[in-house]
Amino acid sequence: MSKKHNFSAGPCILPQEVFQKSAEAILDFNGIGLSLLEISHRSKDFVAVMDEARAIVKRLMNLGDDYEVLYLGGGASLQFAMVPYNILKVGGKAAYLDTGVWAAGAIKEAKKVGEVDVVGSSKEDNYSYIPKDYKVGSEYDYFHCTSNNTIYGTQIKEFPKVDTLMVCDMSSDIFSRQLDFSKFDLIYAGAQKNMGPAGVTLVVIKKEILGNTGRENMFSILDYSQHISKESMYNTPPVFPIFATLLTLQHLENNGGIAAAEERNITKAKLLYDAIDNHPLFETYCHEEDRSLMNVSFKLIDDSKKEQFDAAWKSAGISGLNGHRSLGGYRASIYNALPIESVQVLVDVMNSIN
Ligand SMILES: *Cc1c(COP(=O)(O)O)cnc(C)c1O
Repeated sequence: MSKKHNFSAGPCILPQEVFQKSAEAILDFNGIGLSLLEISHRSKDFVAVMDEARAIVKRLMNLGDDYEVLYLGGGASLQFAMVPYNILKVGGKAAYLDTGVWAAGAIKEAKKVGEVDVVGSSKEDNYSYIPKDYKVGSEYDYFHCTSNNTIYGTQIKEFPKVDTLMVCDMSSDIFSRQLDFSKFDLIYAGAQKNMGPAGVTLVVIKKEILGNTGRENMFSILDYSQHISKESMYNTPPVFPIFATLLTLQHLENNGGIAAAEERNITKAKLLYDAIDNHPLFETYCHEEDRSLMNVSFKLIDDSKKEQFDAAWKSAGISGLNGHRSLGGYRASIYNALPIESVQVLVDVMNSIN
């Protein structure tokens, strides 16, 4: 069957070369006569994968030795708990920005660890924009935000200046645009949105922020310091997702790095947003200034066209275009690996609807 145009929000499209090389490694890894899936994670072949998977993140993000890179299980959702457990001081409080279902999930878990203030929220308007007029002072142990809101298609364009540690859930836009990553003290991202298959989460931490909470007798598996001291092999790591993530990041590095990816992403997003704006039957979900480069949530103005549109995109070989179940409508996820040709197919289908 020919390859579909995959607009899925996650797990999602990866470079074709990554699928190919992953498949080869499952059959015979590095020509050693063994599958990647049947060797010890302590073997020299896999340790080399882990070392490079950690090193490439620092190269791509331009970060120095004051940062550590971890690959952990449990999804981004586990980080909703690990972040406060590791950096919210006993008796301290944290500031959170509420920009969607994922941000609200992080808030809910943090409240089980300590005091949380929601310093801004767009919940009243069904998360259709990013709140901007708030201040975060030094009375907080850290500030947590979600850079890209996968469901609503909103994205923080300018990060606030805060007087405390900066923590960001970048699950759905990591490595999609250039940022000064050294402005962040802790970044985490589930791999399955823009970086690799499901099953692993990237955590990037500035070392000096750890060990200051006064929390004693921590569960080892929830303690970043334990994972760091074991070079991200405290326990058996998810070897396959880490390997496929490394391949994706190598592909990114070999194709111009984040800067080139960002340029392609801007071109793709403009093509799609222009098509929506110029079409009388479609509109985006969120405020224009907060539009995401990664997830384009949109809807039909006239619902009677739904059957016609759905039939047209399906027959054009498009997959994964339905909106999140909490929002309805449509969502085109145009992650790094989605080619502009696929966006053009979608635009042509939209323009055929009248
Ligand atoms: C998908 C997503 C999550 C949840 O990720 P899991 O790996 O399924 O736990 C968290 N935050 C954001 C922004 C997401 O898009």
